[in-house]
Parts: sequence; structure tokens; C-alpha cells
Amino acid sequence: MQTVGPVRSFSWPCMLNGMDVVKQKSVHKAAESKLAELSFRYTTARKRLVELLAKTDGPLTLPEILATDKKLAQSSAYRNLEVLVQCKIVDRISGIKEHAHYELSEFFTGHHHHLFCLSCGDVQDIEIDNCVEDTIASLFESVLKEKAFKPAGHTLDLHGYCASCI
Ligand SMILES: [Zn+2]
Ligand SMILES: [Zn+2]
Repeated sequence: MQTVGPVRSFSWPCMLNGMDVVKQKSVHKAAESKLAELSFRYTTARKRLVELLAKTDGPLTLPEILATDKKLAQSSAYRNLEVLVQCKIVDRISGIKEHAHYELSEFFTGHHHHLFCLSCGDVQDIEIDNCVEDTIASLFESVLKEKAFKPAGHTLDLHGYCASCI
């Protein structure tokens, strides 16, 4: 945990520090209990999807997921991803292009933001410094107070052109 920088006057939720902290085994345990909360079972297919996303660096589209694990069938993979999204195990990121991207939720991966390429539709993860996160939080503080709005989190997307599209 970073100790420098301004003290947060309110905290953004869930600041787990990346997949190295949350080991594979506990990922499956947590996924299983999150599914159970909504009476879903942790089937082999759902486990394969979680495992694949846990091993991957950055969000993947459904075609990319299917290309990575040939044993996954398209229709059931889509349905299972949506179940995982519903249980907050996976986040669906609406892409610029036609395909949505999927990644393990911030509960598992830690808080981060995304870069969207306007040309190829690629989505990359970026982490910004805690000091910048605190600055973002304090920038919104007065607005939130004025609206009597209790913050529960934020997303911050940057749109532009990736290295291979420039
Ligand atoms: Zn690109
Ligand atoms: Zn942030």
C-alpha cells in the first residue's frame, strides 16, 4: 500500500493489488462462492473461462477467448461469460468496435483503467499511480457533495491510437 499523497476523503472500493496477490486457487474459490450467491454452479466450462482470463494479461474479445481455448463452444462460452458478468466475476467492457471485451473483475485484478484504440478496437489495461487516483477522487469531491451523491467507484477510459496503429 502506498502511504504518500493526500489522504483520501472517501475511498474507491476494492484495491486488491493484482493477480500476484490473489493466487489462482483463491480465484477459483472466490468465483465459486460468488456464483453460489446467485445459485449458479461452478461448472467446468465456467472454470475454464475464469482460468483463461486469469492467465491473460488484459481484456479479450469472445473470438480471442475461443481462439485461445478451442474446447470452448461459442454459444455456451457467451452464455457462461454473461453468467460470470452477472455474478461480478467478469467485467464486460464495451469496445469501440463491434466486439465487447471480457476480463476478470476488479475484485480480482485490482482497480485499473483502459486504453481504447479507435482504429483496431484493441483494449489495454493501464494502472495509474495512487496519487493520481487520489487527485481524481478529490477533483470530483465538491461535485459529489453538491449532488449528495455517494461514490461507489469510477471508470476512466482513454481513447486514441495504439502503437501498432499509429
Ligand atoms: Zn490499434
Ligand atoms: Zn481509477
